[in-house]
Amino acid sequence: MRRSALFILPIYLLFCTGCAADDTAMQTRTEALMGTYVTVTLSPASTDPQAALDAAFARAQELEQIFSPTIADSELNHVNASAFSQDTAVSEDFAHLLSESLYYMEISDGAFNCTIGKLIDLWGIGTEDAHVPTKAEITSLLPETNSVSLSYDGIVPLVRFSDETVQLHFGAVAKGYIADEMEKVLSEHGIEDAIISLGGNVLTMGQHPEKQAAWTIGITDPHSPSDIIGTVQVSGMSVVTSGNYERYFEENGVRFHHILDPSTGYPANAGLSGTTIIAASSLDCDALSTAVYVLGAEEGLALIEFLPDTEAILIMSNGKVRCSSGIENFTFRQVME
Ligand code: ADP
Ligand code: MG
Repeated sequence: MRRSALFILPIYLLFCTGCAADDTAMQTRTEALMGTYVTVTLSPASTDPQAALDAAFARAQELEQIFSPTIADSELNHVNASAFSQDTAVSEDFAHLLSESLYYMEISDGAFNCTIGKLIDLWGIGTEDAHVPTKAEITSLLPETNSVSLSYDGIVPLVRFSDETVQLHFGAVAKGYIADEMEKVLSEHGIEDAIISLGGNVLTMGQHPEKQAAWTIGITDPHSPSDIIGTVQVSGMSVVTSGNYERYFEENGVRFHHILDPSTGYPANAGLSGTTIIAASSLDCDALSTAVYVLGAEEGLALIEFLPDTEAILIMSNGKVRCSSGIENFTFRQVME
């Protein structure tokens, strides 16, 4: 019923450096979307790869127009402007991602929270306006529970906010959903072996076409983001990473990063520097990478162990690495220092 996904800049670097020498015949296209670069690499043996790439990127652009917080007339911005206290019709894509997000809010006990758009805007992390807000400003925007409803009138899905401070924001899951939808389109075009990378989200299909083996994905070292801390081998799975090194600013020597703890309104500080999730759906991975970052190692790993076919690699603030119990299914190999 739900989706998943993953992976970050280091994974992409590894993919490039690990495979580029014999990838000259691979079909690759990169476009800027959702504030990051989206790269799709296909097997050279694909039939009509250009048509497959055209269709996959067209789908991604369609979804960006729905979920982008920075495109003024995105569906997200329309809904945020009109859903307080009134039913607002939304697209099936919007309803689907909201429904999945509400599920992840529930199972993460609010650590993942798609209703904190105002808090995200207040901090402005990743923009030129990034600053530390006052405590009163933060407190006034702490989220209420159950403030968003999603219903169906038999024809269209309807969204309604019961709290004036609610603004939806899908920054922690939209890339995962887009990766899953691009995969669907590629499959419909007969593509079997491919890799899709959206910033820290990596989705693999099939095998590396020239090696006839699983794809090797590198996991960024959050304490030295140009290096990897290890690799996993995946086939038909997503690998998604969240970390405190992706978007942040510093004030008086303190780093303020972009993953907020909805219970405090401040950047999450649960003893982790990076979380990587492996699962079949990129959307699932994306939601969980953010949720586990906020929950911390104990609660985060408990959540991962509770979910079937889902694994995690956590990089602690002290540099130690903790993994879920089934990580060896993906041949996790740590780089030795
Ligand atoms: P990235 O966008 O770098 O892949 P994440 O998937 O972890 O990283 O998403 C972080 C983004 O999600 C933030 O930039 C912000 O827009 C939003 N966000 C921050 N904190 C939360 C949270 N607790 N729950 C849901 N979304 C969040
Ligand atoms: Mg995420």
